[in-house]
Amino acid sequence: MFPSSRRRGSPSDTDLSELDAVVHVVGAGLSGLSCAVRLAAAGRHVILYDAANQAGGRCRSYHDDHLDRQIDNGNHLILSGNTEAIGYLRLIGAEDRLSGPQNAEFPFVDLQSGQRWTFRPGGGVLPWWIFSPDRRIPDSVPWDYLRGVRLAFAGARDTVASVLDRGDAFFDRFWNPFSVAVLNTASEEASARLLWPVIRETMGRGEAWMRPRIAKTGLSDALVTPAIAFLATHNCSFRTGFRLREVTFGHDHARSLLFSTGKVHLGSDDHLVLAVPPHICCQVLPGIPVPTESRAILNAHFRLKDVVDCPSFLGVLGGTAQWIFRRRDIASVTVSAADELVAAPAEDIAERIWSDVASALELVDRSRDSYRIVKEKRATFAQTPDQIARRPETTTAWRNILLAGDWTRTGLPATIEGAVRSGHSAAKELLNANSRHRDSH
Ligand SMILES: Cc1cc2nc3c(=O)[nH]c(=O)nc-3n(C[C@H](O)[C@H](O)[C@H](O)COP(=O)(O)OP(=O)(O)OC[C@H]3O[C@@H](n4cnc5c(N)ncnc54)[C@H](O)[C@@H]3O)c2cc1C
Repeated sequence: MFPSSRRRGSPSDTDLSELDAVVHVVGAGLSGLSCAVRLAAAGRHVILYDAANQAGGRCRSYHDDHLDRQIDNGNHLILSGNTEAIGYLRLIGAEDRLSGPQNAEFPFVDLQSGQRWTFRPGGGVLPWWIFSPDRRIPDSVPWDYLRGVRLAFAGARDTVASVLDRGDAFFDRFWNPFSVAVLNTASEEASARLLWPVIRETMGRGEAWMRPRIAKTGLSDALVTPAIAFLATHNCSFRTGFRLREVTFGHDHARSLLFSTGKVHLGSDDHLVLAVPPHICCQVLPGIPVPTESRAILNAHFRLKDVVDCPSFLGVLGGTAQWIFRRRDIASVTVSAADELVAAPAEDIAERIWSDVASALELVDRSRDSYRIVKEKRATFAQTPDQIARRPETTTAWRNILLAGDWTRTGLPATIEGAVRSGHSAAKELLNANSRHRDSH
């Protein structure tokens, strides 16, 4: 049995039970991390657990022996309008670990036509830039962009394609790649309603909210390691190799956690934040509705023979590759909603995608060096109307259990911003419950 509570400092002006109480956060992905650091910053005692031997979950870096480079499991792009994610980075002192262009710029290549362009949204709330042909996608007209406002009025069952696809090239060049990148679900089945908050919080507010941001040296270095260091300096601990197998219950609360390593008893004022994937959550919490379908993302990492002169990321149309990110001599390709592709053998996938990379980056020597294919089969839940209806709230029927995770009812797609927002919501709920409890005594 592991001890769960401890006594800290002098409890002069705070409820003693609150100081003794522990918040057990299970799952050290971005939702668990963001919850833990918020609580730690508010002076709460947090113990964070993860089944893996490192934190980060679906957003992590590791050393790949074959490439002999540190790589990310998958490319991750944040936008400057992702305010909760940026706030999280600020809190853990890592805001400077992202980089990106000074202004919103999204370079694209169409491998079929050979055309290249840079999408440069500008201005503030009024989208004057749509009247400037230099900023627009070739052959587009202002109305093509304004069409996006229809998403604000989409019904619960509408899909992105049913609302925005007019069977024209603009859908293929803009709305479809944007939607697939954000929702990781084919536009024909992806929820139109879920795309709207992203537009409202980024493009809808103007250029300053749409600047792309990428981890400078790696996802762990930017988003994970500083959070673990923050927890350590706030007297909170992180336990790896703790796989949660079962929760035992009293009549309205969780009583203990059964990990692969042993049992942890919850004190009467302790809380549990479950920040694990949905399929684990419904195993340990009976009766909780969760999304049951997922969609894959494939990442192909290639070592380049030369460090080429190209943007740090590039949108690709007309091939298998969708986005190419480059960090020094590694070109990493993302393919979202890749359920069919992940079924193919790695060598076949590498060959198809490498041909796109060589053309997109205009490589002189097109021979391939080492590569690594990373298949994340459960990259996100399937963001369809049916699956979205299954997202649970932060609070549960048990008084000391809260949920976090990009799959919970955040109102946002399953992204870093959604994960961080879910962690912050759980932390806020817990802190508010404590102040309500104090006020009533
Ligand atoms: C390849 C890829 C590319 C992506 N690209 C982007 C992008 O460009 N932009 C963006 O914003 N988002 C992107 N995302 C989505 C983003 O990574 C996720 O939304 C976010 O990381 C989810 O965090 P989370 O904490 O909700 O879940 P997770 O990261 O899944 O965290 C859950 C944690 O629970 C742990 N766990 C599981 N079972 C147990 C158990 N039984 N006991 C204890 N611990 C357990 C896991 O080890 C994990 O650490 C991408 C995702 C993938 C996979």
